[in-house]
Amino acid sequence: MPGTDPEPPRDCPICRRLVAYRRENQAAHPDWWNGPAPSFGDPDARLLVVGLAPGRAGANRTGRPFTGDYAGVLLYGTLIKTGFAKGRYDARPDDGLTLVDCMITNAVRCAPPGNKPETAEEAACRPFLAARIEALRRLRVIVTLGDVARRNVLRALGLPLSAGASGHGAAFDAAGYRLINSYHCSRLNTNTGRLTPPMFEAVFQQAREALV
Ligand code: SF4
Repeated sequence: MPGTDPEPPRDCPICRRLVAYRRENQAAHPDWWNGPAPSFGDPDARLLVVGLAPGRAGANRTGRPFTGDYAGVLLYGTLIKTGFAKGRYDARPDDGLTLVDCMITNAVRCAPPGNKPETAEEAACRPFLAARIEALRRLRVIVTLGDVARRNVLRALGLPLSAGASGHGAAFDAAGYRLINSYHCSRLNTNTGRLTPPMFEAVFQQAREALV
């Protein structure tokens, strides 16, 4: 939507169910962030990493994407290893970690119950994703973590879902960007061996090669 801010307001009222969940979390944990998790990283980034949504006790608690839950350990470790982050990831927003030529955001900015946003919530939050992509003037590569991220990025770019291949490691050019899919770095995917650290690292090496 033209004119949409790439970052929703802290008290974004659009999704009733997610706002109710936010209020529940605010009541139980007033010291948590409990709001849309802002995108994190370099405003001049050429790489955008798009996740699903904040974890309740992860980004919803700390206010930084992938910070404080299991997925962040693998994601930030891999970004450091492939040169897209520097410093030390210590699961806190004040750990001093910085992203290099990279930004991380989520397809849905508020924590959904059970980590499962509804289709209408994805659609409601998509203008923020589209605005986020649009605001990154040097952006060239988008890594999508999981199929919800992949679908929402394609839609945010105004493309049909058939515009690009799905599956881990699939890469294609669309709307002027190189899109690379990855399985989500969730505990479930890593515990079951669906996603291994070398498989995940290979995705970011692909991103690195696409930026050369
Ligand atoms: S998910 Fe997005 S659109 Fe929905 S309330 Fe949160 S920030 Fe607003």
